[in-house]
Amino acid sequence: MNVYDSERMADLLRPHGYRAVEAAENADLIILNTCHIREKAAEKVYSELGRLKQLKEAGNAAGRNVKIVVAGCVAQAEGAEIKSRAPQVDMVFGPQSYHHLPEYLARSSRLLDEAVETEFDVEEKFDSLDNAIAPRTVTGPAAYVTIQEGCDKFCTFCVVPYTRGAEVSRTADEIVNEVRLLSQQGVREITLLGQNVNAWMGPAPRGETWKLGDLCRHLALIDGIDRIRFTTSHPRDMDQGLIDAFADEKKLMPYLHLPVQSGSDKVLKAMNRGHTAAEYLDIINAVRKARPDIAISGDFIVGFPDESDADFEQTLKLVEEIEYASAYSFKYSRRPGTPGAGMPKQVAETQKDSRLARLQAVLEAQKTRFNQSQIGQTLPILFEKTGRHDGQLIGRTPYLQSVHAKAPESMIGSIELVYIKDATPNALSGVLQKDSEAVA
Ligand code: SF4
Repeated sequence: MNVYDSERMADLLRPHGYRAVEAAENADLIILNTCHIREKAAEKVYSELGRLKQLKEAGNAAGRNVKIVVAGCVAQAEGAEIKSRAPQVDMVFGPQSYHHLPEYLARSSRLLDEAVETEFDVEEKFDSLDNAIAPRTVTGPAAYVTIQEGCDKFCTFCVVPYTRGAEVSRTADEIVNEVRLLSQQGVREITLLGQNVNAWMGPAPRGETWKLGDLCRHLALIDGIDRIRFTTSHPRDMDQGLIDAFADEKKLMPYLHLPVQSGSDKVLKAMNRGHTAAEYLDIINAVRKARPDIAISGDFIVGFPDESDADFEQTLKLVEEIEYASAYSFKYSRRPGTPGAGMPKQVAETQKDSRLARLQAVLEAQKTRFNQSQIGQTLPILFEKTGRHDGQLIGRTPYLQSVHAKAPESMIGSIELVYIKDATPNALSGVLQKDSEAVA
């Protein structure tokens, strides 16, 4: 979502004469768009601001007027603290306020409290971005589209409900218009984004309410759009309409990222996830029934307060049962202001380390197996960019795996059949089907 927000900031600033540069050294305006999800996020921002202070001083000494803006969720969480700890910062914007950036930059002088904006007015932000003030400009055939922001779930380990606010959906009309515009610029694959993307809902033309499955089907009707993905989903919002869309909407790619976090019901309850391990498994089984080849991805946290060895074994059992195509796994770390941070029976770091190592070994083996299962298959690959080697392009399979193949640059933006010859845990490699036939 920060990638999308950064692109939108560039879109907002372009009509005011700004253009992107490759290195911060050359910029008159430096925007640090921050994420608060990982540990020590604020410390990393302050350390980066120390480096940027030197750039600003050097730029100003050379007669430029360099400005530094901190945006994103660390800006939201820290607010005015950033300006007092790092006076080199000119402006601080939360993730729901960045649409005001051009207006603030246009003012020649401002007071400290005017330059810190962390209000939650997501509808106003969506409106501002949609009012053709900031038409989207994209460079590749795949693009993100934010359709929903915020979260009402309040998992006890997570800061998102505090930094991004309550769940708000963009209207279907706004989303359809943006995707149409993207398709006119050559985009063939869209990834719909939201903190709880499958909580998306909106009024439909005949007064009924659309959910994410309906939206995907509608977007699939747009000429030029061949692939639709969405992330990140919550198990509680996986409805039958969305599962059915996996069965019969072929443009909806066979990939589902559905975090579970733990396989222990005791831990899931303490995390306030609102579902059990069995309910999660039922959803995965239903999705697999609808789309047997679907690649399942997940998120895991080990060492949540009071997680016992037996709880952790249940996580491993669930992982073994599901067989993931990919996954993200982390050690629990306290986030100030969240209920988990104050819970008793915090798990020792050494314990977390050994559990994470065991979990990751299993997940890595599953990912390798999934990638190797593609060897010998011919898959449609959307080529997105050039690779590191001459004549090489990089693209994606329907299952979101990265693929390298020899192909002409003119194929960037097209979907080509590639015969998969090799696989590592992180990528596949292959040859264009027509080349493989020529060799045969
Ligand atoms: S559902 Fe996701 S974003 Fe919301 S609180 Fe839980 S982990 Fe955070």
